Amino acid sequence: MSQYWSPAVRELTPYVPGEQPREQLVKLNTNENPYPPAPGVGEALRDYATDHLRLYPDPTSASLRAALAETLNVHSRQIFVGNGSDEVLAFAFQAFFCHNAPLDVPAITYSFYPVYANLYGVELRKHPLNAQWEVDTQALADGGERSGVIFANPNAPTGHAHSLATIEALLQRVTDRVVLVDEAYVDFGAESAVALVNRYPNLLVTSTFSKSRSLAGLRLGYAVGSEELIDGLQRVKDSFNSYPVDSLASLVGIAALKDTEHFEACREHVITTRERTRQRLEGLGFEVLPSKANFVLTQHPEHAGPQLFAGLRERGILVRHFNTPELNNFLRITIGTDDEMDSLMEALEVICG
Ligand code: PMP
Repeated sequence: MSQYWSPAVRELTPYVPGEQPREQLVKLNTNENPYPPAPGVGEALRDYATDHLRLYPDPTSASLRAALAETLNVHSRQIFVGNGSDEVLAFAFQAFFCHNAPLDVPAITYSFYPVYANLYGVELRKHPLNAQWEVDTQALADGGERSGVIFANPNAPTGHAHSLATIEALLQRVTDRVVLVDEAYVDFGAESAVALVNRYPNLLVTSTFSKSRSLAGLRLGYAVGSEELIDGLQRVKDSFNSYPVDSLASLVGIAALKDTEHFEACREHVITTRERTRQRLEGLGFEVLPSKANFVLTQHPEHAGPQLFAGLRERGILVRHFNTPELNNFLRITIGTDDEMDSLMEALEVICG
């Protein structure tokens, strides 16, 4: 604690991301994609050093936003880009959620939301998940006076996804403030709310190149919404740095968006592996929550979460364990390659056998 820190900073509890080990481990703890990015990304990288590195990036990221607009079937003025969706979320908190009223949020969700709430002095009104570990959209909508609503679809770390109809029902009830749907994992089998942005001017959808596009190292995320909302984000962003993302991120992002074949094959593979992993875990007696993301949340009736986590770690396999009362018995396992999942299952057979 330092005397130089402002009161808000003294209260901060920073988000602690999953371990990024230096040793060779089977790494199934931070929901990265196990497959390489699209082949066009390599070509884009080669051109980059000679043609682009010495120049400032385009301050409007026009070509990246145009490529995203085409992919998502919206106008490029409806797209905002940032350094990972974490940064986009931070701007959204500043632009939309600082209203002196609580922000409605599921009690179990992405752990960065409380970090930003803390940082920007936003009070959270937390709504428990229902008995099936699903986000209670009814309760989110019922909140009362509020600064906004935020939830992830699919949710993290449960993996459950709501249908578009459920999200639309929420949007019909919450019209006065921004409803932010975080779709970091949407490409692994959920329906995207981007289809609704032209009908609901208060809907903001965020997403990322980190998961289904295999580019977590690049730090590229985006938001889609009405021009009014994008303008709000842009005002916050311009107060920090007039360049939205660097030229490398733009070039690589566009190359990744172009290769739809690679994208489809890769996500199909992750989905198939997820379903096979679920069956195999159930075969060992695990309870596995249904997931539409690139991870599963699972627990065993006879083996406690912390022991399973430690047993796997000893065998060179890293998964995610959350040290919170509700999730303490669970493991969140990222879907890796077929070989990685075989190693995981072999280790679990030994530990649970
Ligand atoms: N939203 C959710 C729900 C996530 O799990 C993550 C990744 N940890 C993010 C957003 C942020 O992803 P990135 O900053 O890599 O775009």
